[in-house]
Amino acid sequence: MAIIVQKYGGSSVANPEKIKKVAEKIVDTYKNGNKVVAVVSAMGKTTDNLIHLAKQIANIPPAREMDLLLSTGEIISVALVCMAIESLGYQAEGLPGFLAGIKTDSNHTKARIRTIDIRRIIKELKNGKIVVVAGFQGISPEESITTLGRGGSDLTAIAIAGAIKAERCEIYTDVPGVFTADPNIVPEARIIPIISYKEMLEMASAGAKVMQSRAVEFAQKYHIPFVVKSTFADNGGTMVTEVDLKEGAVVSSVTLDEKQSKITFFRVPDKPGVAAKIFGALGKENINVDVIVQNVSIQGYTDLSFTVNSTECERAFEISKNIGKDLGCENITSDSDIAKITIIGLGMMNHPGVAARMFKALADAGINIEMISTSEIKISCIVKKKDGQKALKVVHKEFIE
Ligand code: ADP
Ligand code: ASP
Ligand code: MG
Repeated sequence: MAIIVQKYGGSSVANPEKIKKVAEKIVDTYKNGNKVVAVVSAMGKTTDNLIHLAKQIANIPPAREMDLLLSTGEIISVALVCMAIESLGYQAEGLPGFLAGIKTDSNHTKARIRTIDIRRIIKELKNGKIVVVAGFQGISPEESITTLGRGGSDLTAIAIAGAIKAERCEIYTDVPGVFTADPNIVPEARIIPIISYKEMLEMASAGAKVMQSRAVEFAQKYHIPFVVKSTFADNGGTMVTEVDLKEGAVVSSVTLDEKQSKITFFRVPDKPGVAAKIFGALGKENINVDVIVQNVSIQGYTDLSFTVNSTECERAFEISKNIGKDLGCENITSDSDIAKITIIGLGMMNHPGVAARMFKALADAGINIEMISTSEIKISCIVKKKDGQKALKVVHKEFIE
């Protein structure tokens, strides 16, 4: 039984016309003799609107109920896509995450998938139905609805494709594939026809919204290749899979993340255990810390800054203030007026001088670098938010155009 998993993102189901178009694409795939599981996201900006709604009721909404609320966005899409398929004369079975057998841990708002019980999906496929699954959600061991983190419908699609051993997994979105930079900001960006899991993962973690990083991590771990394509155009397409690492470009892509915030501890005592205490506490609360910079110590004191995702900044700041008091630190600030620009390339490993070229391109454009972090195949710089898009363009020009 050749099964194809297709995922349609929020922009692909943003209105009734687009939903009808998506239904036609799904039916075409079915008519070509395939079994189809379609995973759908919430319509357009629905998830953002639901978060905004919750914030008007409670400052920090309880995570369990937040998940219950957010899960409704995808369920609306499932129902409407199924109706559109049925009106084309084909049978569809719509399933929220918990009915599709998606079992997660209890970590509300960014739960991890533990297992997928595929029996229901397989049963419906065997009955000749097209299965439409709500992305981004599952059920915890306590039988509460959970969600899988922003962009989590990508993860639903990839995990289902792995579990049912699908022939193909196709991620449909509003751009024709993965580009050397966000094509909506850099018109000169080029499509990347084939990319390694490793580079795609770095891009996603660096903030290239086109794929959720946890979805790519999952695909890499379980060897699930997938393609990224446009819902509304037939050209393009990017294959994400295992690629020979030796052949990589020095810099294959540039990514801008405008959703970062910086927290700074001023005049914190410079003694063993301080960093462990700060980052231990954040880790315990499941907050991901990204770029970290500690200054040279002066008379036993130092300044320490790190960045977190802006959605977690409020929580991280509260935790930091409490620890700062314990540590006797002078002041703690949070700053969301920053952006992170990252270059990624497998070839970077064997080419010295790449960092210097990036810094020079930024300097020549009059852009100040606030923080730097490097790893084997990427270099990130934190700049002021107002400089972010310009930084993306000049760095892309330096390495790719
Ligand atoms: P969906 O609703 O289909 O999940 P997203 O909005 O999550 O779509 O992701 C698609 C968007 O990702 C594109 O519209 C584009 O602006 C952005 N993007 C950022 N970096 C890249 C890149 N390198 N290649 C392609 N798209 C990118
Ligand atoms: N609707 C969710 C979000 O906006 C999940 C997704 O789109 O993949 O984050
Ligand atoms: Mg997305």
